[in-house]
Amino acid sequence: MTCIDGKKIAAEIRAELRDEVARFTRQSGKTVGLAVVLVGDDPASAVYVRNKIRACEEVGIRSFAYTLPADASQSAVEALVTELASDNAVDGILVQLPLPAHLDGERILSLIPPAKDVDGFTAENLGRLVCGERGPVACTPLGVMELLRRSGIDPDGMHAVVVGRSNIVGKPMAMLLLNANATVTVCHTHTKELAKVCAQADLLISAVGVPAFITADMVKEGAVVIDVGISRKDGKLKGDVDFDAVAPKTSCITPVPGGVGPMTIAMLLKNTLTCAMRSAK
Ligand code: NAP
Repeated sequence: MTCIDGKKIAAEIRAELRDEVARFTRQSGKTVGLAVVLVGDDPASAVYVRNKIRACEEVGIRSFAYTLPADASQSAVEALVTELASDNAVDGILVQLPLPAHLDGERILSLIPPAKDVDGFTAENLGRLVCGERGPVACTPLGVMELLRRSGIDPDGMHAVVVGRSNIVGKPMAMLLLNANATVTVCHTHTKELAKVCAQADLLISAVGVPAFITADMVKEGAVVIDVGISRKDGKLKGDVDFDAVAPKTSCITPVPGGVGPMTIAMLLKNTLTCAMRSAK
């Protein structure tokens, strides 16, 4: 069994990006800029935003951080995103989710121009992914694909089972695997005999958000298991997979923390550079 070290792979990617960002700036005379919008004071979101800004600094991407109060009005958030949409110094716009419940998140995300949609959350970029066209892809599923590639795992011909069907993880994950020639099954709360379906997977990807949801009986001997889930339990970060029981059955597995999480931020940086390069052309 190999435990995939997402932290190490993400650090390698950041080092590569540092060189690529410097080369882009040298050749184009332009800096790369990412705007991050945080609404409210959710402590987990504040940590995610801080980590993203720190990662930008590490690779030479300029970050513009905007924090609005938890009771910010819909029109105030929309006005900020609209302003960033036309700001030439901003190559990518990230609105940290979840937004406070009184806000219409879909409407706010729809104001991000697809060319600056570094999270790949807009309907246009999701549509491009479905059609196999180029465009920014959601960072977490993209990070999973990169983790597989750099670990020498090719999904071509594999039976991949994705548990979770959200627009930001499960669905784009399934599309990326399909585009990579895997045979894909997507599971959710209405799936019958979920354990049996999971146990057929050569590649099992869990994005549910329930600690120890994937147990040893749900995993085929020799399967690759990728744990996207993040939950907090007793002050600790937990994945979806019952790691100690499942790991011995797998050929490869990702831990939580230190698996998919660091890859998400690395892909955000990569998407921001790609958006800057495309807008410079
Ligand atoms: P989400 O929107 O809450 O979606 C969860 C999905 O899991 C839904 O499709 C839901 O099915 C399914 N599900 C929940 N309980 C289930 C059950 N008992 N049986 C079968 N399916 C079940 O969450 P998300 O945004 O996709 O995120 C998923 C997890 O990944 C969370 O833990 C999140 O924190 C984590 N995450 C991690 C990263 C990272 O960087 N590592 C990034 C993003 C998200 P229904 O559609 O039927 O409700």
